[in-house]
This record gives sequence, C-alpha cells and structure tokens, in this order.
Amino acid sequence: MYNKRVKVKDLLQSEQTGHEVTVMGWVRTFRNSQFVALNDGSTNNNLQVVIELGLLEEANLKRITTGASLKVTGEVVASLGKGQKLELKAKSVEILGDSDAEKYPLQPKKHSLEFLREIAHLRFRTNTFGSVFRVRHALAFAVHKFFNDKGFVYLHTPIITGSDAEGAGEMFRVTTLPFDNPPRGENGDINFSEDFFGKSTNLTVSGQLQGELGAMAFSEIYTFGPTFRAENSNTTRHLAEFWMIEPEMAFCDIEDNMNLAEDFMKYLIKHAIDNNREDIEFLDQRLAEEEKQKPQNERSELGLMEKLQFVLNNNFERITYTDAIYILLESSHYKKKKFKYDVTWGIDLQSEHERYLVEKHFKKPVIVTGYPKEIKAFYMRQNDDGKTVAAMDILAPGIGEIVGGSQREERLEKLEERMREMHLPVEEMSWYLDTRRFGSVPHAGFGLGFERMVQFVTGMTNIRDVIAFARTPNNCEF
Ligand code: ATP
Ligand code: MN
Repeated sequence: MYNKRVKVKDLLQSEQTGHEVTVMGWVRTFRNSQFVALNDGSTNNNLQVVIELGLLEEANLKRITTGASLKVTGEVVASLGKGQKLELKAKSVEILGDSDAEKYPLQPKKHSLEFLREIAHLRFRTNTFGSVFRVRHALAFAVHKFFNDKGFVYLHTPIITGSDAEGAGEMFRVTTLPFDNPPRGENGDINFSEDFFGKSTNLTVSGQLQGELGAMAFSEIYTFGPTFRAENSNTTRHLAEFWMIEPEMAFCDIEDNMNLAEDFMKYLIKHAIDNNREDIEFLDQRLAEEEKQKPQNERSELGLMEKLQFVLNNNFERITYTDAIYILLESSHYKKKKFKYDVTWGIDLQSEHERYLVEKHFKKPVIVTGYPKEIKAFYMRQNDDGKTVAAMDILAPGIGEIVGGSQREERLEKLEERMREMHLPVEEMSWYLDTRRFGSVPHAGFGLGFERMVQFVTGMTNIRDVIAFARTPNNCEF
C-alpha cells in the first residue's frame, strides 16, 4: 500500500499534530543515530524523522545512510528543534532501498554545478535542481493554462519534417539509408527517393509553418514541443534539443503580437511566483551567494525575486532596430571599442549588443522591431520602406534573445517574390502558400525558447542546468 503515504510538503503545510501518517522518501542526512532529514522531492524542506533509541536494531540503523530510501510510519508531533514546526516520531521504519555511503556521489555538502552536470542522473536530489525542476514544471503547466484560457488550440506539429525552408544547414538529418553504401543517382548524389520517406527528411527546427496552417482554421493555435538545431554553438544559452512554444494568431498584427508575448512572459513569471515562491526564494539566495564570488562591477543590481517583480511591474521597452543601432553607436562602450563585433545598420545584433541594450542601457526587457529583411526569414511581412520587416525579438537581461517573432507576409505576390529572391523552392512549398491563396488574413506569431524562460525565472546562468538531460555538441549522456 503505497498510496496511503502523505507528501512531505502537504504534511509540513498542514501544521496538524497528534495523528499517524506514513511518509516515504530519501535520506538527506542522519544525525546522532536519531534524526533523519527525509526528502521526497515535493519541497526542499526535509521532514525530520525522530527514531528513538531502541526502535531499530543496530544493523538496521546502520543502513540509514544518505541516499537510502525509507518508509516511515509514525505520529506527527510538534518539534522542539529549530527550523521546523513538526516532526515525525517513528513507530516503524522500513528501509526500501540501501545506498552505499562510500559510493553515493552526492555527499551532504555543496557540489559545483559542473560536477552535478556529470551526475545529472542524481542531481534532481539536490535542493538547487529540486527547485529548478519544480519551477520548470510550473512554467510548463502555466503555458497550457495561459493559452487554454484564451481559447487557443494546442496543435502538435510534426517532429520529422520534409521541409528545410527555415534553417537549412543547421538541421539533423533523419534517414534509414546505409552509411557505408547509400544509393546514388547518376550524378553521384545520394538518392533520397530510396530513403524511408521517399525524400530527404530532418528533425524540425520550428513548428511555425505548420502552425500557420492551423491558425488559418482555428484562428489561434500554439505549439509546445521539442525542436532541434545542429548549430555548433557551445554557449550558455544554446542546446541542440530544446523546447519551444509557438503561438500563431490569425487577425493579428505586430502590435497585437508584441502585447501577447509581453503578457505571456509576465503571466508565466507571476504563476511561478504565486505557486513556487519557496523555490524561487531558495534560488534567489543561491544566486546571491554566487554573485558574491564575482567582482563588484559584474554583480547584478537586483536579486532574483526583485528582478522578477520589477519585470512584472514595468512595461517592456519597445524600440526599432534602427534606434537600437543608433543607441549602440552613441554608447561609450562603442566609442571605447569595447564591442568585439562591429556595429552598423544591417548587422545581425550579436549577443554582446543585445546584452548592452537590456543590461546597461534600458535595464529591463526590450522588444526590438523592424529588422533589416536581409537578416530575417522569408515569411516575415515586408514593411513599406522596402528595407525592413515586421519582426520582433524580445531581449531579456542575463539571457539575450528569449522570443523571436513577426507578423507574417500574407500577400501572396510579395511572399513568392521574396522566396524567389532567396532561392527557396516555391513549388515544393505550395502547401504553405495555399494559406495565402485561399482566404489569406493578416496573422502573426512568435517562438519562445522554453529553457531560456526557465533560465530567466530561476536565475540559472547555464542552459544545461534547466533541462533534465542536455544535448549539446559532443554531449549526449544519460
Ligand atoms: P539565437 O540568435 O539566440 O541563436 P535564433 O534567432 O536562432 O536564436 P529563433 O529561430 O528566433 O532563434 O528561435 C526562437 C526562440 O527559440 C529564440 O528566441 C530562443 O529563445 C530559442 N532558441 C533558439 N535557438 C535555441 C537553442 N539552440 N537553444 C535553446 N533555445 C533556443
Ligand atoms: Mn531569432
């Protein structure tokens, strides 16, 4: 009978005493052969279990080691010790699983995040990762709640795709052809018509194109699924496999799109604060300690909770790309030649530029619109100036780009013209262009990188620490 157990979090919250309960969890520490700190992952707060002298035989007491799993039945009593109101006075203790203290990699001391990445299969059992992954869960739940409450349809777009219109070169190929001797055509090229799908296929980099098809029927859809990019960038904000949320809205322009994205981010933050305050407070303290190791001028001015509250209570700054370039050119940072990459109208903003804008100049999230068409995707709506498109990126302090979106080009001729300019296969994309042939409407959408949002809310610096098992160049463990 495992279902009669109570969760530690519920038990600690109830503040009731005098009754008997059963709890199960893992030993964090065992002091004086008497006090067990038991954790079941529902909260970072351990339940103190008191094992009175004589209750267990010596041999069994020895089996209560860090990492071992226990089933304990006992009476809930008021605690005399500091730090907790309640504790459990054990009547029976069953050791469900032993844990060899000599071999258990997680010692009751502080481990570095780098070390914990190497034992990612056990790191959920630490306070830091307990908090991070409970917050990640809360945010995922809030994503669905936000869109469901607004009447958006959750569309599951495919993981395997036959179109490579968006990110050719950065995709992971999916194939069942033999490596040693693939079938070849007359010119020596690999003949993908003999491949599993009868064509060349890849893992998706985005569900947007299919999302647009859904929006042209349901008015408003969103996707929330894994996406894959074979980009060889070893940074603290890129993964080869990450989760993306992509809403797509018919009857919607760039302005509506920005408003939705800002509301969405604020909703997620508020949901996490309301539902996971303890975890965020824990992460706030963790971050404060980490900040202390940095030189004064690199420390952030706000703590995690302060930063989140600040973002909730202030509007995001909205500027055009042209303004952004102007601000960068006028900055003392630029004049002192502190940027590694050059600044001139037409460049793709580099991470250092984005971070200067949000962290030094505006000190809050910034939405940049009106990017040069040359650096953006073919489907973005062309502005009347002939140079820019109705794109919008949201840049966040500490992260850089967190959202990328646009109003889509709904005019068939303009879209086809742009596709030809960019040498895209107009005929192959005919299914996509049909949306513009049959009842085209102004529409817009964006993609929010879920892990970057989790980073923002948890204050974790490295994206590898907010996904269960990170996939990055040269790393696919667990
Ligand atoms: P970046 O310039 O940071 O590489 P991008 O311009 O390639 O991002 P988009 O194609 O606009 O990104 O994707 C939408 C969102 O997905 C981004 O705003 C970001 O939050 C997230 N994202 C993109 N690439 C990655 C990645 N490799 N790992 C994690 N998240 C990512
Ligand atoms: Mn982008």
